[in-house]
Amino acid sequence: MSDKPVFVTQPYLPPLDEFLPYLEDIWATKVLTNGGAMHQQLEQALCEHLGVEHLALFNNGTIALLTALQSLRITGEVITTPYSFVATAHSLLWNGIKPVFVDIDPVTCNLDPDKIEAAITPQTTAIMPVHCYGNPCDTEAIQKIADIYNLKVIYDAAHAFGVEDGNGSILRHGDLSVLSFHATKVFNTFEGGAIVCPDAKTKERINHLKNFGFVDEVTVVAPGINGKMSEFNAALGLLQLKYIDAAISRRKTIDAMYRTALRDIKGISVFERPAHGKANYAYFPILVEPGFPADRDSVYEALKAQGIFSRRYFYPLISTFPMYRGMHSANPKNLPIATDIASKILCLPMYPALADADIHRVVNCLGNL
Ligand SMILES: *Cc1c(COP(=O)(O)O)cnc(C)c1O
Repeated sequence: MSDKPVFVTQPYLPPLDEFLPYLEDIWATKVLTNGGAMHQQLEQALCEHLGVEHLALFNNGTIALLTALQSLRITGEVITTPYSFVATAHSLLWNGIKPVFVDIDPVTCNLDPDKIEAAITPQTTAIMPVHCYGNPCDTEAIQKIADIYNLKVIYDAAHAFGVEDGNGSILRHGDLSVLSFHATKVFNTFEGGAIVCPDAKTKERINHLKNFGFVDEVTVVAPGINGKMSEFNAALGLLQLKYIDAAISRRKTIDAMYRTALRDIKGISVFERPAHGKANYAYFPILVEPGFPADRDSVYEALKAQGIFSRRYFYPLISTFPMYRGMHSANPKNLPIATDIASKILCLPMYPALADADIHRVVNCLGNL
């Protein structure tokens, strides 16, 4: 194959020379971490960009998830989705919380609100849904259940940077929302993350928890962790933010090209986007249906043979991993939709630098199977 390999994602990197002034600043001040100037600027810039009031930066999304659960003192059982990246459920186990898996909605791939109530027990304290692929959850239905049963809601919004529903940022829903700025995400700081919180008091508690529980030089109020984002990562974020609109706009074009080109391929289906709000085009998932000449794994291998590295997000389901599969709620009979989608799903290459020619290559490969 003479064509260069194409991966499911490629981190977006701004021009290197534009990063140098940030580094010079850091070298001059010698402030490397612990809430320095870049950190403060990025928190403010992100609040403005995302349309939220309070946000605490983290060194990665997983530690942010752990800390979000700690800050709300979540215990017992938490209802969550098996159809996500494994960090969602791992953050519960790290807090000694039992995940209870509930099936997903086949249209959005998000937790199905109609199935949540049946999974609530006296031990249930919270719901942790995921805005999968950046598709907004049914936040209204979830909040209604949370209000009736007095449960907290923590959104894993790792895929949902910049996503809006009809009324504004999707990140304003629930008690807390957690972002990831990992290299593979729509907005990256190499590694990084954030918790979006409703008020200054909550953010203050989160700030203590991400700094070992220190309140001042001599006072430790909680068994906190080291969740701090460094000045280097914050600087990357400040620069990246200048390019985010252009990056998402290119994603939108790629999304439209895929949709048009895949329309005539029988047995491949795509997910519809919500009619209202703003998408971030984080992923381009397809379903390889039984009507297609090859099954999903054969498609995955055929693409790979041509240097196109798609990914089966999310297969295997979290609930099938050894630390979860013995749980009652992990039984595939309890999760028929998630199990079915996990067997058909394939995420095609999607990133701003993806060339038109590569999109055609991917589509041609699918069309010739
Ligand atoms: C990426 C991701 C995480 C973890 O974020 P990190 O920043 O890599 O720790 C958590 N949940 C979901 C759904 C993710 O995609």
